Amino acid sequence: MAVERKNFRRFTYAEYVEYLKPFLLKVKFSQVHIHGTWKPTIADYRKAADKMKIIQAMWRFHAITQKWGDIAQHATIDPDGYIWEGRSLLEAPASAVGYNDADKDRIHPFMFEMIGNFDIGAENLEGAQLATAVKLTSHIATMWKLPDSQIKFHREMNPAKTCPGSSVNKASFLELVRDWSDVDMSPADANKIISTWLSPAWFAASTKAERDEIHRLANELRKASGQL
Ligand SMILES: [Zn+2]
Repeated sequence: MAVERKNFRRFTYAEYVEYLKPFLLKVKFSQVHIHGTWKPTIADYRKAADKMKIIQAMWRFHAITQKWGDIAQHATIDPDGYIWEGRSLLEAPASAVGYNDADKDRIHPFMFEMIGNFDIGAENLEGAQLATAVKLTSHIATMWKLPDSQIKFHREMNPAKTCPGSSVNKASFLELVRDWSDVDMSPADANKIISTWLSPAWFAASTKAERDEIHRLANELRKASGQL
């Protein structure tokens, strides 16, 4: 029986990290596969009144037109940096022919799509969307202990493609992923940020809410640098 429609949840990055936790024991991700949708574009997404319809249109194309059983990817990163649910994480993705590891042994790549046309001269991968893509790649690689060599752009698996887009440089992307993984902050740097930037802002703040937020950020820096 044909299913006409499927609903997909939308997560913040922090919510998705929580969502992933139990899967560490249920599935082994062997690689991270990174794609850009090309179509839908960021402009398509911005125009859509109901964003869910954009995800459902991909699902319909993948599951019904292409007969890939479900939406191809495990996750979709939208231009605002939210992560939309895709196919079950327990299922192999429909990422690239010969690279999906679809033998039902619960060992397969984690595949995500970033909504947009990232070919040179088209749209840009930037801001919240880039941040989520970098953080998610880093998080999956850390959780499943994957070296950089197991982080793949689609075009590395299919040279006929530019995917995730010719404007997205692999070396720069990996550098961001590595920077993000490096969570060690020295107490000296944390205290420098607090004294140079946060303290003056605290004294200049006009409301208690602002001062509370600055105080919270200072404590986050102290935690990140092992001082709390
Ligand atoms: Zn692709």
